[in-house]
Amino acid sequence: MRVLISGAAGFLGSHLTDRLIKEGHTVIGLDNFITGNRANLAHLTKEANFSLMEQDVSTFIKVNEPLDYVLHLASPASPSKTSPLGYPNLPIQTMKAGALGTHNTLGLAKFHNAKFLLASTSEVYGDPLVHPQPESYWGNCDPVGVRSVYDEAKRFAEALTMAYHNFHGVDTRIVRIFNTFGPRMRLDDGRSVPNFIQQALRKEPLTIYGTGEQTRSFCYVDDLIDGIRLLMDSGEHMPVNIGNPQEVSIIDFALLINELTGNTAGLQINTSERLGDDPERRQPDITRAKTILGWEPEVSLRQGLSKAIDYMCTKLEQKRS
Ligand code: NAD
Ligand code: UDP
Repeated sequence: MRVLISGAAGFLGSHLTDRLIKEGHTVIGLDNFITGNRANLAHLTKEANFSLMEQDVSTFIKVNEPLDYVLHLASPASPSKTSPLGYPNLPIQTMKAGALGTHNTLGLAKFHNAKFLLASTSEVYGDPLVHPQPESYWGNCDPVGVRSVYDEAKRFAEALTMAYHNFHGVDTRIVRIFNTFGPRMRLDDGRSVPNFIQQALRKEPLTIYGTGEQTRSFCYVDDLIDGIRLLMDSGEHMPVNIGNPQEVSIIDFALLINELTGNTAGLQINTSERLGDDPERRQPDITRAKTILGWEPEVSLRQGLSKAIDYMCTKLEQKRS
């Protein structure tokens, strides 16, 4: 296949790029590096099956060669209000990537008669009133809340994807990704995993926003990529949750990172740092992924965190030297 991946320089986009190249496919990576990292693609500079289009996905995309698949991952993804990479600080860019970027990538897929996959998110469920969250749940989102630039852009992106499928017959997929972590996460995008691991490696207390009783379910990146790969090859057009159903409170998650890093500095509760509309509970119902794709995660939280800690340890050492 010849595949275009928007957001290829990002955390997930670069892993997906590697997987497809390893399988022998040709990948065109499209990115404007707003939150991505050139280093994530540096190992591919001499790879004949990889090329880079440095472009904003919100502007018209022209590809002359035939395409078999278009994967739209480009979007800021961190909810941090303190990091300049967080979507609260990139509100218009986030809405444009989800709205105009989805329109452009769908148009590109339609033009080339290519399949299309949208990277959506558990955020479409907002602060959910149903637990765990099945795909049939419509969500609980505030259209003018602080997270709305991301949530509503992704909800619009899903609606537009279904419209292109139903009206234009584009062969589409929608993956609702739950919190994913692993190597190549940016150290400075303010998400819980890089924040906690860096604080732990510096032997500092881990900053808990709010009470820390809020929950998340963290999936290791290799498992997520396996799930996306299976979904790409399936004939499923309706949204599919991909995530790890092991739910953990943020306090317990932070304590596990302290244990794995031998950090004895403990936790620092910081109620004022919590972003508005921060979901209280998040856990994917993965029944559809199991049934349709035969997928479920294999990497435990401890195993995955150990790998992520090793990665960030190396990165921090490189930065110091
Ligand atoms: P990331 O920030 O590492 O990667 C996003 C990439 O998109 C970056 O390389 C960035 O430069 C690029 N990008 C953003 N706007 C762009 C634009 N206008 N034009 C071109 N490129 C642009 O984030 P990620 O964690 O890899 O997330 C990738 C996708 O997966 C996003 O769509 C995100 O919403 C979705 N997602 C991720 C998670 C997660 O836990 N990582 C969870 C749910 C959904
Ligand atoms: N969080 C925290 N300390 C941090 C960063 C995040 O307590 O330094 C909390 C955040 O408020 C949220 C949870 O951890 O409740 C998960 O946040 P993350 O940044 O991973 O993304 P989200 O799941 O909210 O999209």
